[in-house]
Amino acid sequence: MDYSNKWPYWKDLSKRVKELANYTCEDCGKTRIRLYAHHIVPISKGGRNTLDNLKAICYTCHLKYHVHLQEREKEKTKHKNSKSKILFENYYSF
Ligand SMILES: [Zn+2]
Ligand SMILES: [Zn+2]
Repeated sequence: MDYSNKWPYWKDLSKRVKELANYTCEDCGKTRIRLYAHHIVPISKGGRNTLDNLKAICYTCHLKYHVHLQEREKEKTKHKNSKSKILFENYYSF
């Protein structure tokens, strides 16, 4: 999957999603926490990088949508080197 064209806009887009959500998790209502812009319809299933296909949710809620990330979470606690952490953060932006 080639994100290169969309990538420059992602930062602004995810910021906007969080603004619109009032910096509140749209699933559990938590505030003052780090939020992630989540694709309601995944890119892999034809979803787009548009505001109506994104919602701001917290780390915990995000994990529920991405079961495969729960495996990564286990990996992350196993290997705490900085390189894998950066990869992990990047992965999470989607
Ligand atoms: Zn939440
Ligand atoms: Zn997501």
